[in-house]
This record gives sequence, C-alpha cells and structure tokens, in this order.
Amino acid sequence: MFTKLAAITTTPAGLRCLAPLYDAGAQLWIAPKMEPTAQALGLTYQTYDTSLAEYLKDAWNSYDGFVFCLASGAVIRLISPLLTNKTSDPAIIVVDPSSQFVISLCGGHQGGGDRLTRRISQILGAQPVVTGAANALGLPAIDTLGEPFGWVKGSGDWLGVSSAIAHQQPVQILQEAGSELWQKHLPAGHSFQFNFPEFEDRESQPKPQARVWISPTQRTFAPNSELPRVQWHPRVLWIGVGCERGTDEALIAQAIESTCRQHHLAIESVAGIATLDLKADELGLLKYVEKRNWPLRCFEAKTLAVIQVPTPSDVVNQEVGTQSVAEAAAIVAAGGEANCLRVKKQVVKQTGMKGAVTVAIAQAKHEYTGRIGKLCLVGTGPGSLNQITPAAKAAITDADVVIGYALYVSLIRPLLRPGQIIEGLPITQERQRAERAIELAKQGLTVAVISSGDCGIYGMAGLVLEQLRADNWDGKTPAVQVLPGVSALQSAASRVGAPLMHDFCAISLSNLLTPWEVIQRRLRSAAEGDFIVALYNPKSQTRQDQIVFARDVFLQHRSAETPVALARSLYRPDEQITLTNLGDMLKHPIDMLTTVIIGNRSSRNYQGWFITPRGYLSDLAE
Ligand code: SAH
Repeated sequence: MFTKLAAITTTPAGLRCLAPLYDAGAQLWIAPKMEPTAQALGLTYQTYDTSLAEYLKDAWNSYDGFVFCLASGAVIRLISPLLTNKTSDPAIIVVDPSSQFVISLCGGHQGGGDRLTRRISQILGAQPVVTGAANALGLPAIDTLGEPFGWVKGSGDWLGVSSAIAHQQPVQILQEAGSELWQKHLPAGHSFQFNFPEFEDRESQPKPQARVWISPTQRTFAPNSELPRVQWHPRVLWIGVGCERGTDEALIAQAIESTCRQHHLAIESVAGIATLDLKADELGLLKYVEKRNWPLRCFEAKTLAVIQVPTPSDVVNQEVGTQSVAEAAAIVAAGGEANCLRVKKQVVKQTGMKGAVTVAIAQAKHEYTGRIGKLCLVGTGPGSLNQITPAAKAAITDADVVIGYALYVSLIRPLLRPGQIIEGLPITQERQRAERAIELAKQGLTVAVISSGDCGIYGMAGLVLEQLRADNWDGKTPAVQVLPGVSALQSAASRVGAPLMHDFCAISLSNLLTPWEVIQRRLRSAAEGDFIVALYNPKSQTRQDQIVFARDVFLQHRSAETPVALARSLYRPDEQITLTNLGDMLKHPIDMLTTVIIGNRSSRNYQGWFITPRGYLSDLAE
C-alpha cells in the first residue's frame, strides 16, 4: 500500500506503535541500538549508521513521505533545514507513541500528507489531525484541486487564494475548460462564485476577494494586483504537427512553444501532439515528446483526408494523400468537434536550423488526464465501520470518486474526505451506478464502487465487470481491483455461533434476475445434499411466498428442530437476531434486511448457540 514511505522512530515504544505500517509496505528505519527490539517484534528493518539528521538529509528525496514516532518538536528541528517549498517537500507525519493521533505536520496538500495521514490513522485505529483550513471547511484544497483531472498548476499567488478561501471570502472561479464535476460536490455554504466578469451582477453579489482561472489561456498577472489569482491548466490542447523529414528537435520545440506564446496559450495545457502515421519515427518529434512526457498520436492519411480544414494544400495531398496534416490531426485528436481548431496552420522555419515545421492547435472538450482510470470494487461489510477491511477503507479514502447506493454511502461517511466526488444513487439503479463508474474511470479517475457485504456476492463487482465486458474492455484499461468484504452470511454466522462449519451454500430468493424454477431447483438440491444454506433476499413486500416454499423443501429432508437463524440489520444499530428452528421460523418477522441460515442434519441449538459439528467429536455429531 505504501511504496515510498519511511517510518522512523528512536524508541522501543515507537517501534511497537509503527509496526502495523510496516505490514502495509512502509520501510522501517532505526538506529543500530534498536535492533534487538525490532528483532523481538519480528520486524524487517534497515539501520542508519550516521545520526538521524544525517540519514534524513540523504533520504530526503528518496521517499514521498516520512512518518515519525518522535516528539513533534524533535521532528520540526530535524526537518527544518531540509524543507524547500510546498511543491517538492515530502509529506511529514507524526504519530504519538500511544497511537491515538496521527498529525499531518508538513507537505499536507501537494506532498499528499493529508491523505497519507488519513490512511495511516485508519491502519493504527487513530484520530487523524489535519490542520489545513480547507479541510475544516470540507473543501478541496485549491492547490490540489485539479490533480484528479490531470490539470497542471500554473502561476499565481497560491497562498493568497488559499487564505481567501480559508477566511470564507468570496472567491471567483472562472472555468473555461476541464471537468466541472468538482463544482457539483462542494459542501453547502462554500464561498465560491461561478461566473464571468461580464455577467457579474455587481449589486447582488459580494465583490470577489480572489480569483481562480481554470483555462488553457496563459494569463499574466500583475505582481501587485489587488486580487490574489491563480491558474490551473486542464490539458485540452492538441498540437497538430507536420514537418520535413529530419527536422531538428530544437526547431520543433521552438515552433510549438512560440505558437502557443503568440496565441496566449499555456504550454501546461498541452495534452499531446498529433500527426500523420508516417511521422511516427520522426526522430526530432520523438525526442521532444519524450522530454515533455506528452503522448504522440499518429493518424492514417485516410482519417485525416476527410477532415474539413481552413488551409488545405494540394502539394501536401500529392505527397502524403491528405490535404492537411497539422490542422486535420489536431482536429481529430481533439475529438473532431466543429470549431475546435484554435490556431490555424503556421509554418515555422529558422535560418541555421534543419527542416520546416507546421503547427496547428485544436481544443478538446474533455481534458487528457494522462492517467489510466481505476475501478475499485469494494465490499464494505455488513454496516459497522469496524467490520471493513483496512484495505477497503484505504481504497475508499483514496478514491477520487465514491459511488454507491445512498444508504451505504451514508454508512461509510466517516471514511470520506473533503474534495472527494460522492455519488449516491437510489437502490434500484445498479446498472446506472455501474455505467457511471465506468464512464468516470474512463476519464482517468479512480472510482470506488461500494457494495454492502462482499462486492462479489450479489454485489456490484459482477455488474461492473459484466458491463465492462459488454463494452469490449481489454482487461487492463481502466484498471480494476476487487476488495473483499465480510458478507452477510459470515456476519450472520458470527452472531449465532458456528453454523457454517460444514459444507454450505448461498441462495438468493429474489426472482428478479433468476427464474423461480431455477431457484426452486437449487433449493431442492441444497436440501437434499444436506448443505447448510444461507438465504439472501428472503422476502420483500411483493415476494412473500418464496420463503414458505424454501422452508417446506427443507422440512422434507430435515427435522422441524433444525436450527434456523434469522439475522436482520447485522452490525447496524437496529440489529435483530432470532435463533429459531425450521418448524417455527415463519412465526417471526423476515424481510429484505434479513439473512436466513438453515442448519444441516447435524446442526444443533446448544444453550442459544447455533453449532454445526465439523466431525472432530464424532459422538456429538451423531
Ligand atoms: N453483497 C451483500 C449481499 C447483497 S444482497 C453481501 O455480501 O452481504 C442483499 C441481501 O443481503 C439482503 O436482502 C439480505 O438478505 C442480505 N444482507 C445484506 N446486508 C445485511 C445485513 N447487514 N444484515 C442482514 N442481512 C444482510
């Protein structure tokens, strides 16, 4: 889970406190005198031979974050000579030796410290202490706002804008490009204004005290302007490039950069380069995109030939079979919408440099995020936060988006963090939930789709995977990770004893998606095969008879005294457990929130405990 995290302590108590992080992938660093304690605890560790201050100096750039179990004063003294600036400093986190609090000390936003703090506190069962002002207001931090969408930070007075937000002053957001999803998930009472100056109704709106531009335009802010301003650059610009064979990399770079400058477009907003497939091996171009870490999209001449462009050329057509390379490729890469071309073909040559370059720029509707999206299919257990695995908790806290049935989203609310996009949909809309999750993951976001219990047992995991298959998914993009949860049958079993100690099965009585004949056949087989059975979806307002049929089938093969557990709202405040038997089970309330466990021929109710013998004590097993 933690790939580049160093955990550091100088005391045995600290070592015990940090030990669980080591299991999650953090690297433990200790002084040689601590080795015996580390060995006694069975930990793998690395030692530093120098002083801790010296070690830190060497390790500073090798890790994304450092967790200390040390006095915070000592940590501050240790790190202060090493701090440079907010953008490049690693996350610094302090844990108190009794593991009650995890403090995000430094590098909270851009160093990812606040997120790490939440994850570590989940693992240690501690309280996260996050002191950033935006966090307290439930807002995304302005200096990390665009990260999920792959936006690039531009220039501006970031401290000034953050401070205006922290003081809940009106902050004007001028968004000209990029996803607006973040706007729809802000807490009530935020102080952002979404409008443009020309529409500003000066009478009714308070004057903004700061301004955020989200745009591909490069704005130059006066150093002492009255308003603090910042700019985020969504990567929406596709640069169409054509060039003579063997053109210098420097000329390509100059052509692109000067064209952007002339048209006041931010180089940070460039998504990538588009060209003709013949140019896929053009050395200067390849070197330049590699340096910039941009994608190079190459199109066939026949794809480009059908695009309407303002500056077609017959000469080019004769040479490569399309009247336009730069303009047509830019338009195709940007999604082909009418009017997406922002800069017509420019030809750039320079004396003393080899070759010639044509450049055109088009703007896409959706930003290029540079990320493969990810779907985390997460089981959140029966209801209580204590019953969720740490890995599932981390996946939820880390996700850019959390999607689920509104009730389950409310059950996991403490795991959510400010700035996350939360979409709770009604219970009936499973398909819409799956489709929405896939749509957002395809945009490059990490999406946690939550199901109660286990996500792969009558849950969302199957639905999402089926939907991906229907979309001709390649198995890799978006990435998928399935995180298990405690299913209702395990929760129910835990509340009554050990009913599932021999071969068992689960049968859902819902005939919404499964024909009733199939369910009947499976009930008969389970009853005849002496399986212990867990019945899911046993009864609803409109489905009352299935459970009667099930009981009757089991009575044909097992005695009326066979124990039956009726477990309702497990691990939730209104939990209700009834231990009854096959003969009497229908005298008690059963509904959609209930899981029913029917024992096998050997199961017994002993002093109010439901026990199915495994066979160790054969005289008890009859
Ligand atoms: N994925 C879930 C099952 C969803 S199907 C899981 O693995 O548990 C819905 C059915 O699950 C309900 O009708 C009920 O039978 C059962 N169920 C889910 N949560 C429950 C809970 N907290 N208590 C009792 N039964 C539950």
